[in-house]
Amino acid sequence: DAKAIVRLRHALDAVPAYKPGKPAAARDGVTTYKISSNENPYPPLPSVLAVVEKAAAQMNRYPDMAVTDLTQALANHLGVPVERIATGTGSVGVLGQIIQATCDPGDEVIYAWRSFEAYPIVVALAGATSVQVPLDEHARHDLDAMAAAVTDRTRVILVCTPNNPTGPVVHQAELDAFLDKVPEHVLVVIDEAYLEFVRDGQAPDAIATYEERHNVAVLRTFSKAYGLAGLRVGYAVAHEPVAQALRKTAVPFGVSTIAQQAAIASLAAWDELAERVDALVAERERVVAALRHQGWPVPDTEANFVWLPLGADTEAFAKAADGAGLVVRPFPGEGARCTIAETEANDRLLEVARSFLAART
Ligand code: PMP
Repeated sequence: DAKAIVRLRHALDAVPAYKPGKPAAARDGVTTYKISSNENPYPPLPSVLAVVEKAAAQMNRYPDMAVTDLTQALANHLGVPVERIATGTGSVGVLGQIIQATCDPGDEVIYAWRSFEAYPIVVALAGATSVQVPLDEHARHDLDAMAAAVTDRTRVILVCTPNNPTGPVVHQAELDAFLDKVPEHVLVVIDEAYLEFVRDGQAPDAIATYEERHNVAVLRTFSKAYGLAGLRVGYAVAHEPVAQALRKTAVPFGVSTIAQQAAIASLAAWDELAERVDALVAERERVVAALRHQGWPVPDTEANFVWLPLGADTEAFAKAADGAGLVVRPFPGEGARCTIAETEANDRLLEVARSFLAART
C-alpha cells in the first residue's frame, strides 16, 4: 500500500495520539456537559463577539504575520517589552515551536508525569526524547528528581503549574531552588496555562518573578481564563534570543486576524472576565470541599479542574458520569480529570461521585 512506498519519518512511530475531549452527545430531555477539556463554560462576551464579527469581514486577507497589535497589547498588559513576546497557534503551538527551536533528534526534554498529554507528542515530533519524572505522592512535581534527571543531552525542562491533570502548583521557593540547580543552557519552560485560576500566594507569577533568568520561558494561553479555546492563540514570554527563535519557528500566518482581534478585545475586557474566573474559583473550592467531605482524596487544585484518583475504577467512573450526562476525561488506570463548569454540571459531578463511592464501599 501507499504507506509502504512513501517514506515517513521513524520518529513518528513514537508519537502518541492526543485524545481530545469528545463532545457531549445530545440526549432526549437531559442537558449534557463536556467537562473533559478544561474549557471556560461562559459564552463569549458581547464586546469580543462584536470585534470577531468585524474581523471576520476581512477573512479574504491574510492576518498580520508579525501579530503587531496583539503583541503590543500583551506587552502593555504584562509590563514586558514586545521583543520578549512570541505568539502562536495556541500555547501548544508555541510549545511545539520551543521544542523545534531547541532540540535536535536525541536531545532530551524532562517533564513531570503525569502531566499535559501534548508534551510527549511535541517532543516525539521533534525526534527528541522524553524523560518523564513521576509526580510525588501528592500529585505534585518532584523538582529534586527532575533536576537530578538532567544530562548533557537535556535541552528543555517543562514545569506545568498548575499541573494538568492533577491540579497542584509549584511554590516559588521550590522553583527558585530548582532553577539554581539547572544549567543555564537548559531552557526551563513554565507552563502557566491556568495561572489566572491560582489563589495560592506561594505560587509565583513566573513572568514577573523570573524576568532576570535568561533560561526561563513562560507559556500562557487565551484558551482558559479568557475563554477563546476555539480561536487558538497562546504566547510565550522569554528572553530575546529565545523569543526570536520562536518567531523563526512559527508557522507563517499561524494566528488568524479573528484570533488576534479577539485576544486584544479580551485583554481590554479582563476585569469582566476576571469576575467569571472568580466565580469558577469559588465553584472549585465548593466542589473540592464537597468531594473531600465525601471521602475522595482529591489533590490540591489551583486550576479549573479537579483530579479524582480512581486507579482501576477510572473507566467505570467515566461510564457512570456519562450516564448522568457528563463527559469527563479518564486516564485509564490512573484517574479522571473533571473541569469545573456550570453550577448544574458541578452539582451533577458531586452526585455521581457520591453515588459511585457509595456503591464502591
Ligand atoms: N498547557 C496546558 C497545561 C494545558 O492544559 C493546555 C490545554 N489543555 C495547554 C497548554 C494548551 O492550550 P492551548 O493550546 O489551547 O493554548
